[in-house]
Amino acid sequence: MSVQLQLGFAFDNSFVRDLPGLFEPWQAATAPTPRLLALNEPLALELGVDPDALRAPGGVAMLAGNVVPNGANPIAQAYAGHQFGGYSPRLGDGRALLLGEVFDINGHRRDLHLKGSGRTPFARGGDGKAAVGPMLREYLIGESLHALGIPTTRALAVVATGEDIYRDGMVPGAVLTRIAASHLRVGSFQYAAANDDATLLARLADYAIARHYPAAFERTDRYLALLESVVAAQASLIAHWMLVGFIHGVMNTDNMTISGESIDFGPCAFMDEYDATTVFSSIDNGGRYAYGNQPAVAQWNLARFAETLLPLIDADQGTAIELATEVLKSFVKRYDARWHEGLSLKLGLNGELQTNTELLDDFIELLSNQRVDFTSSFRALSSLLRGEASQAHLLFEHSESFNAWTQRWQQCLAGDPLHIADAMDHVNPLYIPRNHLVEEALADAMDDDMGRVEHLVSVLTQPFEARPGLHEFERPAPSSFRGYRTFCGT
Ligand code: AMP
Ligand code: MG
Repeated sequence: MSVQLQLGFAFDNSFVRDLPGLFEPWQAATAPTPRLLALNEPLALELGVDPDALRAPGGVAMLAGNVVPNGANPIAQAYAGHQFGGYSPRLGDGRALLLGEVFDINGHRRDLHLKGSGRTPFARGGDGKAAVGPMLREYLIGESLHALGIPTTRALAVVATGEDIYRDGMVPGAVLTRIAASHLRVGSFQYAAANDDATLLARLADYAIARHYPAAFERTDRYLALLESVVAAQASLIAHWMLVGFIHGVMNTDNMTISGESIDFGPCAFMDEYDATTVFSSIDNGGRYAYGNQPAVAQWNLARFAETLLPLIDADQGTAIELATEVLKSFVKRYDARWHEGLSLKLGLNGELQTNTELLDDFIELLSNQRVDFTSSFRALSSLLRGEASQAHLLFEHSESFNAWTQRWQQCLAGDPLHIADAMDHVNPLYIPRNHLVEEALADAMDDDMGRVEHLVSVLTQPFEARPGLHEFERPAPSSFRGYRTFCGT
């Protein structure tokens, strides 16, 4: 298929058209000397835009927010949100702008959004800016999740603004261009539900249905259908995260999308050794967003979403609560099904879930008891099937319980072990964004050396296929890296 590349974006801004009351028109601050640090060529091509046009001075000026592209209509979106359980009625894009929407080469509508583009009416005490390190981190994590087959917002580019900003000291500022199926959040609904304009909530809900779950229009109870769809999408997303050991770190309701894409990577990180209580974020003292809490937190956030929809679900509040509660309860079943399906594929099993669930759960218990590196464990098992036992024996220190489990496991496998091993390697990544490597790459980037970031992107975007010379990318952080903390990284 040949695709006509455009020099610029062809905008069609439905959010601005349909949802007055949910945004403030706004302009980006001027970046003094914008310089392109990273450009996501494959994503540019997916958007039908010529990467060279984005690399040219006019393109970089646009990515920095200095030039408003033809057809864009920049706005700061309004939203509310529960942050660590506490409710803020007015958060909104304090340092971000939606430039508009464009259709990609597959005809999908995507948001084009700038982050770090200056203070907006929602900025409160913030400076409206973003730092190079955290924006490149968002780039890396998004590309990694995408390559792992996980729905996510993605970075199109990171541009250094040429301005230093104050964080823990002076650091270089940056603007991230983000592409998303939309930026509708649970917090958008919380904001609309509390609005004086009684039509806003229904307009938003209909907009979300049209954009993400159009099949719901065919049902008489379309708002309940919307809730069901979002519950299903989030159950699947969180299971995906859990299956790769991803810890988002700040699962506030304003950081949970209606589309089911991952969004807003601040203090996120991947777990090394299996421990359900793992927390990396320096601000998550109570462990609210620990690895093992993520499914429960998602369900809690979805309950906040459901509350906003009650008046649309049924005029009688009691009936609405009953209906919504049933749907919310289905989260657990949906999540468990996705998790067990995914885990059984990771273990090379495709048979009867009913009989295998115990085997799956016992494997996780084994990882937990022996503090085994989560990512490596699955590749060690496929190696075992190929007759290479050394990695497994290194990882699982208590060989007795490990051997007992592998015996049960091998009895459940059906087919040629070599084929099973290959299938496992297609779903179990070898390369994830190991925390120490991400930190090293970002430190270099702060010193103007993008080499490691670029190399890391190239490694992470082919996460399943072993390649020579990349051994260091397979290994967990050295023990000196224990107690790793991520900072909210704004
Ligand atoms: P986050 O923790 O990145 O999801 O952001 C939570 C809220 O704080 C959102 O409303 C952001 O727009 C806002 N925010 C975060 N950092 C800044 C900043 N440097 N300046 C202004 N607003 C910010
Ligand atoms: Mg956020």
